Amino acid sequence: MPIQAPKGTRDILPEDINQWNFVEEEFSDICRRFGYNEIRIPVFEHTELFQRGVGDTTDIVQKEMYTFEDKAGRSITLRPEGTAGVVRSYIEHGMSSLPQPVKLFYQITAYRYENVQKGRYREFHQFGVELLGASDPAADVEVISILSLYFEKLGIKNLKLNLNSIGCPECRAEYNRLLKGFLSDIIVDMCDTCKTRYDRNPMRIIDCKEEHCKKQLVNAPALLDHICDDCSKHFDSVLQKLEAIGIPYAIDKNIVRGLDYYTRTVFEFVSENIGTQGTVCGGGRYDGLVEDCGGPPTPGIGFALGVERLLLEMESQGIKIPKQPAPDIYIGSIGEKAALASEKLAWQLRRNNIICIKDIMGRSVKAQMKYADKLGARYSLILGDTEIETNKARLKDMVNGETKDISLDTLIGRLIKNKASEWL
Ligand code: ATP
Ligand code: MG
Repeated sequence: MPIQAPKGTRDILPEDINQWNFVEEEFSDICRRFGYNEIRIPVFEHTELFQRGVGDTTDIVQKEMYTFEDKAGRSITLRPEGTAGVVRSYIEHGMSSLPQPVKLFYQITAYRYENVQKGRYREFHQFGVELLGASDPAADVEVISILSLYFEKLGIKNLKLNLNSIGCPECRAEYNRLLKGFLSDIIVDMCDTCKTRYDRNPMRIIDCKEEHCKKQLVNAPALLDHICDDCSKHFDSVLQKLEAIGIPYAIDKNIVRGLDYYTRTVFEFVSENIGTQGTVCGGGRYDGLVEDCGGPPTPGIGFALGVERLLLEMESQGIKIPKQPAPDIYIGSIGEKAALASEKLAWQLRRNNIICIKDIMGRSVKAQMKYADKLGARYSLILGDTEIETNKARLKDMVNGETKDISLDTLIGRLIKNKASEWL
């Protein structure tokens, strides 16, 4: 049996790569327009980074990480997300001494041991942004507006922005006490995950996906109704600024986000099209994270967008993505002399940015033309002994079949100077 790709991984084949290139380039473009620079971080880190940086009460750390010992006995984990690695890098490279804020974006693969289904894989791709050193509500709005603009440029409609504030450690401690009071009688009736969260991180019970638990929580107090004045002012200012630039939102008091490090603003962009895996993107503020990871106190906010889900959404909305350009010209040859001439010709054209495919199979002229047709080449030109002797070759428009004899001396100049559509 031939070996197959591991469960939950997927090849991105040449026939689909234009979609990936397109969304990647558009994302980098928009991030740069907001003054963000790209950062690349390692695929694996010390396990401890994620235990601290993602939080050891999260599903990711408890159930989903790819963790192994390396040959020297170190515990290593494949990154399940990007924020922890970026924050580690910020601290390690002393970025707090750079002019603040530090604005970073990334395009990464991430690894989680998940139940594989549509839009949920074990290796997947995220685009993300981290804005470090800015605590003002304007920073929250900038990060959210990157996404809004990105979706607008891609032509994606109807992604709903849901927002919440989960306060600061102080108001949350207060709220956790209140929630535990509410749950004290019913917790025995809830799932095991809720039971462990009850002691370790009660707020996350709100995130439970079990129908039975959800029913119990209908009348639970909402954190947003209990945040402190400062957190409340921050949230109001975020909403006001979003309104000023016309970004629609809905407040969803149930968003608590799966990661432990969030504070204040949390948000998601959700689709109704792609079914259960409808969260295309999630993000939030993490004012304690840099310090938790051993750095100086530094506010931060960011998001991560699931690229597979983005592409599913684009597909379901029927959004057309520009195809890879077809070759401008196919150069065929027959015989030794012509083969040499075709080497020179193709080399000159390629040096001048013309997409040129040439025969490297020594096939018959008929087979070469068939191949040029399959490639969708715009023009073709076949060199043989006669062409070399008369110093002339026939350029053929593969779309309408028109041809023109062109002197080999002027051919290169003509092709380089003019747009491909004007070669004949
Ligand atoms: P979910 O609730 O769907 O499990 P999450 O809260 O675990 O999502 P985050 O950790 O916030 O997701 O990651 C940000 C984004 O990455 C998600 O909104 C989603 O689009 C994408 N994502 C997360 N896990 C996967 C996965 N296993 N496969 C594909 N995309 C994923
Ligand atoms: Mg998840």
